[in-house]
Amino acid sequence: MEMGTIADASSRRVRRQVPWICIILGAVGILMFEHVAAGAGSGGDDGSASFFDAKAQNAAIHNLQRYLRLDTAQPTPAYASALTLLTELCFGVPKMKTHAHSFVRGKPVLVCSITGTDRDAPSIMLNSHTDVVPAGNLSNWDFPPFGAARVPAVMLSNAQSSDDHIVARGVQDMKSVGIQYLEALKLLLRQQPNRTFRRSIHVVWVPDEEIGGVDGMGRLVDSSLFTALNVGVELDEGLASPTEEFELCWAERRPFWTRITVSDAPGHGAMVPASTATLTLVQILAHVATYRQEIVEQVNSGAKELGEVVSVNINHVHAGSADAINVIPSHAEAILDIRIPPFVSAAQVDELIASWMPCTNCGIHVSFVHRVEEGDETSLDENENPWAGVFARATSDLKLHKMIFPASTDGRFVRAKKIPVFGFSPMNNSPVLLHKFNEHLGTKVFLEGIRIYARIIEALANAPPLPHELSPEQAEGEAEL
Ligand SMILES: [Zn+2]
Repeated sequence: MEMGTIADASSRRVRRQVPWICIILGAVGILMFEHVAAGAGSGGDDGSASFFDAKAQNAAIHNLQRYLRLDTAQPTPAYASALTLLTELCFGVPKMKTHAHSFVRGKPVLVCSITGTDRDAPSIMLNSHTDVVPAGNLSNWDFPPFGAARVPAVMLSNAQSSDDHIVARGVQDMKSVGIQYLEALKLLLRQQPNRTFRRSIHVVWVPDEEIGGVDGMGRLVDSSLFTALNVGVELDEGLASPTEEFELCWAERRPFWTRITVSDAPGHGAMVPASTATLTLVQILAHVATYRQEIVEQVNSGAKELGEVVSVNINHVHAGSADAINVIPSHAEAILDIRIPPFVSAAQVDELIASWMPCTNCGIHVSFVHRVEEGDETSLDENENPWAGVFARATSDLKLHKMIFPASTDGRFVRAKKIPVFGFSPMNNSPVLLHKFNEHLGTKVFLEGIRIYARIIEALANAPPLPHELSPEQAEGEAEL
């Protein structure tokens, strides 16, 4: 998920102190837990058990740890190291070919593909981003953010299962997903070494999602390479869920980063003019705060989900100078981070912003740092989007919670090309820890996610020609059959 974009007032971290002796003991525990955890969760009712034994599970976890140990945090992500490792991991998948591209120097895009038997059929794109958000203050982490320690659940205050967990920046957002795609393909090809897929499968790693994705997915979707990939459907990131349900994101909110400036007469700080720039800005922000409180109550009461409301945060305020306390400033400015669900129009948000203004023709100027006029959706109605039916059948044994992603992902670039995108990270029974300290993921959830992806990928990649892919003549022939 894009950096710094989610409003989450309820998630203030309570700092815990874990003595170093615990960490040392934990390291010993890690070794002891290897075998125990490897056996746990190795069942599965899909017949995959013997193809996903303890050895394969530990190899998958090891690959995840290797990836997590690369410091790909913005603003100086180790993209070259990630490219080297991911290329090596792709070589470990039978039949996979790798292609690295750089639309911007130093920002590689890696495409690892298995060619389908029907080369003309629209393909499956499995996307993840290689960058992560900064770890922040290291003293807030109980384990090194790029150590990818595998620790017993008892060493974490908020683990939801008793298996051991991997702690690292990016384990939820979203390095686990990139590894799961590859491990799912390996699982499918172990089950049936001669297996083929009707559609080509492209596992894609892009840079810079956490800083807006413009030089990553933004460039890719406008390239001839993307045209050549002939993408029919894309999987992109979703969210963890603390319940047994899995989150399925069919849209995301779009940003209106709004700058409000107020100009008024400057003056001596001892005077009391009827209006000042700062006073007018405070009046505006008071209206914003009142509106925001309504939204907080709607979300906290459960009446609406975060993805369903127009949210606002006052994230920058500036006026005057600390070196000139006795001067009434002539300018005051605030920048608001407004997020809009796809079913709310730009005109409606313009009206909302106008309603916060205490006066007209009084020196207020509204402009936009970033404003996205329309949001795109992926219909989950099979009649409108046949891929939704394929996805639903592949996940029929899972409890899905359908939601609007509250912030931004790379999926928006793909949806803008009118390609269906399912935002789905298979992390249920897990606290939502993206961008937070001690980001972690249970090994059981990680391994189960590989099985889930195997079913989804197999279903998507072998989907027969869908109604919208048929020519009128072909559709007629199908109807006659
Ligand atoms: Zn992300």
